[in-house]
Amino acid sequence: MAAKLLEGKLFAAKIREEAGRRASELKEKTGVTPGLAVIIVGENPASQVYVRNKHKACTELGFHSESVELPEDTTLEQLLAEIKRLNNAPEIHGILVQLPLPKALQKYESEVLEAISPLKDVDGFHPVNVGRLVTGQKALVPCTPNGCIKMLELAGIPIEGANAVVIGRSNIVGKPMLNLLLSRNATVTICHSRTKNLAEVTSKADILVAAVGKPGFVTADMVKSGATVIDVGINRIAPKKLVGDVDFEAVKEVAGAITPVPGGVGLLTIAMLMMNTVDAAEMQLNG
Ligand code: NAD
Repeated sequence: MAAKLLEGKLFAAKIREEAGRRASELKEKTGVTPGLAVIIVGENPASQVYVRNKHKACTELGFHSESVELPEDTTLEQLLAEIKRLNNAPEIHGILVQLPLPKALQKYESEVLEAISPLKDVDGFHPVNVGRLVTGQKALVPCTPNGCIKMLELAGIPIEGANAVVIGRSNIVGKPMLNLLLSRNATVTICHSRTKNLAEVTSKADILVAAVGKPGFVTADMVKSGATVIDVGINRIAPKKLVGDVDFEAVKEVAGAITPVPGGVGLLTIAMLMMNTVDAAEMQLNG
């Protein structure tokens, strides 16, 4: 039996609608329009596309949007000065530094991300937000894992008490996913490159999240019948061909629900960024 397809565009539309509605309510009550600033350093073409898409999403929802384009040879001091300006700008509620940074700045990535005010850290990468997430306090949470959770909730897939397995332990996806699932009372196992007998662990999962970065890594024998499979992977295997981490054609015959790639989780990230910007604006207004 083929699995139910969890299409990103349906969930992204619902998330954007909610973000837009909350933004209008905020504007009506307080006069404040949520504002997002995206800083891009250098000329990475993929990053330029992401930044344009973020700007477009802001415009569509009536958010204030600022794109700060800095040259490839920007110094750390110049970048930090720009972040400081935006930290102090009242019309800006969310600040995002587009990664990856140019080579010369990559060793300063932590310093750059930590310079963003935790209240404006809409990527959720600042250690204050990481700590708040881990300790179950209100936090700005990384958009991709947060989008996966929102999708599960909107699709009515039970998380509480579920056996959830996350493959991948990155700071951007795996670790926040673990904490988000745990905070919703799932029993969570996190697997990584040193995990032994991976298939034995994954085949017990009611919810299986793959964030590995290897095409076709999750095969049908690794998946429990009826499981929900969330494929976070984005792998370019040819100039115009993207695939996920899951062997989609085989796994869809075993799973109960599955996200496609492209057209799955990837579409939720910008929608969640809009939601985080509204959250950040509310958090700043409420002190
Ligand atoms: P990463 O490279 O930082 O982490 C990969 C993880 O996979 C590591 O924790 C590693 O331990 C684990 N891993 C590697 N080989 C393994 C193996 N043989 N068995 C078990 N685990 C193994 O990657 P990331 O930043 O977490 O991204 C993962 C994937 O998700 C990538 O394809 C990336 O492009 C994609 N991604 C998508 C979005 C989005 O949809 N918007 C956002 C972020 C990342």
